Amino acid sequence: AHIMHYPQQSIVGTRAMESTNFNNRPGGQNFVVAIMSQHGYNMQDAVIMNRASVERALARSAFVRTYNAENKRFPGGQEERIEVPGTGLDEVKGLKSWDSYSHLERDGLPVPEEWVSTLDKSEKTVLVGKTSPPRFLEEAHGAFLQAQERRESSMMVRHGEEGWIDNVFVTESLDSGRLVRITLRTNKIPELGDKFASRHGQKGVIGRLVNEEDMPFTVDGVIPDLLINPHAIPSRMTVAHVLEMIGGKVGSMEGRKIDGTAFTGEKEDSLRAGLLRNGFNHTGRETMVNGETGEDYTADVFAGVIYYQRLHHLVSSKLHARSRGRVQILTRQPTEGRARQGGLRFGEMERDCLISHGASMVIKDRLLDESDGWNLMVCNTSGCGHIAYYDWKRRTTVCPYCGDRSDVHTVQTSYAFKLLLDEMKSLGVAMRLELGDRR
Ligand SMILES: [Zn+2]
Repeated sequence: AHIMHYPQQSIVGTRAMESTNFNNRPGGQNFVVAIMSQHGYNMQDAVIMNRASVERALARSAFVRTYNAENKRFPGGQEERIEVPGTGLDEVKGLKSWDSYSHLERDGLPVPEEWVSTLDKSEKTVLVGKTSPPRFLEEAHGAFLQAQERRESSMMVRHGEEGWIDNVFVTESLDSGRLVRITLRTNKIPELGDKFASRHGQKGVIGRLVNEEDMPFTVDGVIPDLLINPHAIPSRMTVAHVLEMIGGKVGSMEGRKIDGTAFTGEKEDSLRAGLLRNGFNHTGRETMVNGETGEDYTADVFAGVIYYQRLHHLVSSKLHARSRGRVQILTRQPTEGRARQGGLRFGEMERDCLISHGASMVIKDRLLDESDGWNLMVCNTSGCGHIAYYDWKRRTTVCPYCGDRSDVHTVQTSYAFKLLLDEMKSLGVAMRLELGDRR
């Protein structure tokens, strides 16, 4: 779960928010927003955020993940044990270094507020120490009673994650085994690439964190938390976004909540009057000063206060890269997805791009050498075209149709293509490859 550290009730709200109790569980904060560009770091739907605001814990949240560990019981009296592996009487297979268990208590459980991480060099990645009975019962060697061998099966922190042990709950599972539930907590401070949105669908990711002294500011000295791009407004016609900015501005100046309910809420004229009453321009625009040069901007900038929510598309949970790694067993292509340390897809459009550049060796590199390249043997004895193989015992190539001493050639293809040929064969269709000389 994501839990915001300092949630606020929105300055501009609707009557429905009262009756649905929304104000008792708010999910955002009131941001000071200016609609302007700055060096292009908020182009398209990017936003620029004030670094000082972030350091004052604007939009800061905690991420809590729950882990469950259970000591299962197997038929035959065997059972898993929650303990510090290696401290029992039995030999433990796959034991980790002593340091990996050093933060565990003698019951195999960690202490709350202990830092565990798969990212830093500390080897503290074990959440619950656990050992399991061997998979297969071994035969006794000789007449001597042997020490039982157990397997290390500790519960680890998810790959690529870290945090503080928040809570450790111990209870009983259905088959009266021990059930341990651990919550792991991480602070998520807004950073480049994190996503935010107002309640009008105006979403965007942080394109830059700007130091407070470099941010533009109003003649009153107000520095915005957020700069959004003017192009985000006209085509989307989110007029309510603009209205809420004015409403929030009046509300924050007068210390009152603004009713933004459709048809019945506070009218635009009233809000404009409110701006004038507080010494602002009735348009909501104000003269702003360039924080880098100290000069006034020639155009007035529309600025106000509006409720923003942090969306849980955090860049820290999406960042991913791979050089080499695991492959799928069926196709022998790299695995897919961040959780499986997958490769980055080189799709059709990327392929088309390289074709249009004539970069044939790059295509071969991506599609074969760095993926599922395969040297396929093909028999060409009078155009046979069947797939041949190399018999390692007799040290000769064999065509299942023509037999030994056939004219076998090696062709570079992808393993996925070989798989297609094999699957067609299983359907009773023998595909033949017509070989030609490479020009
Ligand atoms: Zn053949």
